[in-house]
Amino acid sequence: AQLVVAIDGTSGSGKSSTSRGVAARLGLRYLDTGAMFRAVTWWLLREGVDVHDTDAVAARVHEPAILVGTDPAGPGIMIDGVDVAVAIRTDEVNAAVSPVSVVPAVRSRLLELQRDIIGSGGIVVEGRDIGSVVWPDAQVKVFLTADPAARAARRAAEEGGSDLTATEQSLLNRDQIDSGRATAPLVRADGAVEIDSTTASLEEVIAQVVGLAES
Ligand code: C5P
Repeated sequence: AQLVVAIDGTSGSGKSSTSRGVAARLGLRYLDTGAMFRAVTWWLLREGVDVHDTDAVAARVHEPAILVGTDPAGPGIMIDGVDVAVAIRTDEVNAAVSPVSVVPAVRSRLLELQRDIIGSGGIVVEGRDIGSVVWPDAQVKVFLTADPAARAARRAAEEGGSDLTATEQSLLNRDQIDSGRATAPLVRADGAVEIDSTTASLEEVIAQVVGLAES
């Protein structure tokens, strides 16, 4: 089978930069499953759906068309015909995405789309449940972690200097909901290699994952 590299881990651990870097180095496609959950969340908020009302979320999740790109240089995501690549990175979406992601109907709709895209392989896929649920047969599985303070510092820098304490709190809130949910919780998958990026540079982490893929 063609190569599938699954990269799971906590919020802000460097999954996106690592995954895009690995895909570029190996000439593979790239799938950001978090962007799919974020797009659904953005659309529900726009529709005025209460994201904490699981029945309401489940009743609407099948409506919007979702198109997700796989180019590591610029993946792109559209929902209901709207390009939301930028709009899905707001505080409002950050706060609502984990409650939306616990809803089984949301997970099953996106799981089907994800498996279609992963298809015959040749792809680096990042998320929370890729190695455990979405593609347990991935040849390479990584579980990426870092200390909360390091994750918050990176994320705040990406966001152009947002408040460190608030950023750390937002990441930890998402981790807690993502790890505690009943369906497809964030866990280290069987066979996943844990990489702690607290003190490693992005280049070092990319090289380590490329090394796993080439071995
Ligand atoms: O990776 P990112 O931080 O963009 O993911 C946003 C949220 O989407 C996560 O906090 C989690 O609630 C949800 N998610 C998920 N399963 C995935 C990817 C993301 O539940 N495979």
